[in-house]
Amino acid sequence: MIEVRRDVSLGHYNTLALPASAAAFVEVSDDAGLPRALEWAAQHELPVLPLGEGSNVVLVGEQQALLLRLSTSGVEELERGPEHVLLRVAAGQRWHPFVAWTLAQGFCGLENLALIPGTVGAAPIQNIGAYGVELSHCLVAVHALRVADGAALTLAAQDCRLGYRDSVFKHELCDQLLITAVDLRLATRAQTHTAYPALRDHLDAHGLGEPTPQQVFDAVVAIRRARLPDPAREPNAGSFFKNPVLEAAQAQALQARFAGLPGYPQDDGRVKLPAAWLIEHCGFKGRRRGAVRVHREHALVLVNDGAGRGEELLALAREIAAQVADTFAIELEIEPRVYGAAA
Ligand SMILES: Cc1cc2nc3c(=O)[nH]c(=O)nc-3n(C[C@H](O)[C@H](O)[C@H](O)COP(=O)(O)OP(=O)(O)OC[C@H]3O[C@@H](n4cnc5c(N)ncnc54)[C@H](O)[C@@H]3O)c2cc1C
Repeated sequence: MIEVRRDVSLGHYNTLALPASAAAFVEVSDDAGLPRALEWAAQHELPVLPLGEGSNVVLVGEQQALLLRLSTSGVEELERGPEHVLLRVAAGQRWHPFVAWTLAQGFCGLENLALIPGTVGAAPIQNIGAYGVELSHCLVAVHALRVADGAALTLAAQDCRLGYRDSVFKHELCDQLLITAVDLRLATRAQTHTAYPALRDHLDAHGLGEPTPQQVFDAVVAIRRARLPDPAREPNAGSFFKNPVLEAAQAQALQARFAGLPGYPQDDGRVKLPAAWLIEHCGFKGRRRGAVRVHREHALVLVNDGAGRGEELLALAREIAAQVADTFAIELEIEPRVYGAAA
């Protein structure tokens, strides 16, 4: 059984607390309900908008769609080898509690990704990443239903074309699949990734030269709690823009012109620049436009003070992007997915 509701307010279903609504809304907590929801959408000629925790979306106005909120849960152990375990995790499972659970089992690999809001099913969409680790480090496969006909299919990790905050689900397969589960390969022998500067500094400051995975998890949680604005108090969607990645020559030319502009060399020879630095340099830190603003301490985070609408937020984002383009000749790309008329 699925229960589809009409004209549902979405204010509580997105971490920016934007006042959007859905023409139709269904919350599905068991796998059997997923094909039924897709059938319902086809019968009513509505597109399907899958939603997890709404922590990476900008919802503008009324969504003429069946908003399908996934709250399926469950973890299955598929295989255990001498040094690894293979898990299948339901798409609606909340990410952070799942990461905490893996550590409690003695599985490691996800500790740097602690406290990222959202669901397991959304994690491959932008190949979530933090503190030097991305989902691609342990993703084995993605299971999905094709929205058009409900057919079940599996994509191997290499077919997901995971990149920096990017995947095939944002391109060729955009809006075509409902992810139902994700297979992850985790290590059963402790190994950690601690080279990321902010993480290394924190560990050193606490005398943890060779931390356990649990200590890395605790450090990431502590850093994020101290540094990142909590959406429950300051509604936001995390980083609003992706960090631009430029050819080395272009990055060097900019660094010669703008003293102090940091650059992070990538494996492919290109250089990643911090969007926050570019935005701050343009004077936007803390700038307010009506009920929306750039965070006072985090130039990359846009905040809705409560009464803000999606249009206002996007207008501020466009103003920022235009100024950055004028100053640095760089086109900033919005990280969250924008849904609605003004997208
Ligand atoms: C405070 C804060 C901090 C953050 N920090 C980070 C960070 O460090 N690193 C990082 O990478 N991200 C970060 N994010 C972004 C966000 O947490 C991730 O992108 C997360 O994976 C989104 O999960 P969600 O369930 O909320 O997805 P939603 O926002 O609900 O959806 C995001 C997109 O995925 C699609 N989608 C969701 N579930 C499915 C599914 N089952 N099948 C098909 N499509 C689906 C939606 O249609 C939408 O297009 C942060 C966000 C916030 C608010």
